Amino acid sequence: MSMRTALVTGASRGIGRACALALASAGHRVVLAARSAEKLAEVAKEIRTESYVVEMDLANRDSITNGIAQAAKDFGRIDVLVNNAGIAKDGLAVRMKQADWEAVLSTNLSGAFYAIQQVLQGMMRERWGRIINISSVVGEMGNPGQANYVASKAGLIGLTKSLAQEVGSRNITVNAVAPGFIGTDMTSELSEELKQKMIDNTPLRRMGAPEEVAAAVKFLASDDAAFITGHVLDVNGGIYM
Ligand code: NAP
Repeated sequence: MSMRTALVTGASRGIGRACALALASAGHRVVLAARSAEKLAEVAKEIRTESYVVEMDLANRDSITNGIAQAAKDFGRIDVLVNNAGIAKDGLAVRMKQADWEAVLSTNLSGAFYAIQQVLQGMMRERWGRIINISSVVGEMGNPGQANYVASKAGLIGLTKSLAQEVGSRNITVNAVAPGFIGTDMTSELSEELKQKMIDNTPLRRMGAPEEVAAAVKFLASDDAAFITGHVLDVNGGIYM
């Protein structure tokens, strides 16, 4: 088998960056996608295998379609897709602005779906593929103040299970990874009090590292995970079980 190519969305920092580095260390060529081309270029410098940077806005369907098409044309077929890009715009449902609902749903859920649509035909033709969607523990358990984010993350789990059933016969696996409380930009703005509360509720009594999520992604992308599909892999220190 020649070197496989993995596309990671939201690869400019945090969990996506860690996924890109982990997949590269496992021998994949990597396509790095996000809005910030500058930050992607920095990540690309850290990668020893071949890599390709593509500026892409996951909230915009044309940007996704064109970006992935360009990457595939210049760099070759996509074998592994990691839908990691995500945002949160928290607020109570009763006062949530339409713009905040739509931004989160379109980036986190629709963006993942359009990326999947863009890579799926190639995977079907090849009769090999791995799709890994980064959900969240709150997509499994709910969270007050995050109706939009939770709906997007629960939506990714439903998408994962439906798609796994559609494309299993083509030897394409579709799985989700549901991280708990992980130290990244997304969680750095939380108050010390809330952070401590999350840690107290986590049996392993600490936050997770992006690399610990990336290890699960690397596994699901590997040949060792060939018979795993439609699964939600919790990487959450036990905060939900
Ligand atoms: P992060 O540090 O805030 O990074 C988010 C990534 O997504 C960045 O690379 C960002 O790149 C990209 N992104 C955001 N909006 C985008 C858009 N419209 N188009 C393209 N790329 C976009 O977040 P993180 O903590 O690493 O989270 C990564 C994923 O894990 C998210 O889906 C998040 O929901 C999920 N997650 C995180 C945690 C946690 O505790 N951190 C827990 C559960 C699940 P640009 O800004 O350059 O576009």
